[in-house]
Amino acid sequence: LTRNDWPEGIKWTKQREIVLTVLENLCDPQRAAEIYLTTERSGQTVCLSTVYRILELYVQRGLVNKLNIMNQDTAVYEFNRLKHKHYAVCMRCRKIITLESCPMNEFFQELGDNDFQILGHTLEVYGYCKDCRM
Ligand SMILES: [Zn+2]
Ligand SMILES: [Zn+2]
Repeated sequence: LTRNDWPEGIKWTKQREIVLTVLENLCDPQRAAEIYLTTERSGQTVCLSTVYRILELYVQRGLVNKLNIMNQDTAVYEFNRLKHKHYAVCMRCRKIITLESCPMNEFFQELGDNDFQILGHTLEVYGYCKDCRM
């Protein structure tokens, strides 16, 4: 992301660019505090309250999805790639893993056959991640 392909209608600031770049490079959704730490690790300084404000702006503009996942007390954020996704949540370390495929399609076929118009769905998977499984 550079200043040239900056989203229309949002005033450019260096801090906004830093936060959006971090979001773009995330593999899995993260909490605001984690996004803040990533900006800090990259040697940039954006204070935590600014990170929160920028995230809220991006959510309002539809650039970023804010997810409230079950058993998590804080919301997580991800860059909106306009592709629906599901998540697996570790109940011990609370890590969130993005699942690339949707297991529900066959099931929907069946519902569709039964004359139900589907607009969307949610699905969350929970359990223990690789590190917490023992
Ligand atoms: Zn875990
Ligand atoms: Zn799905």
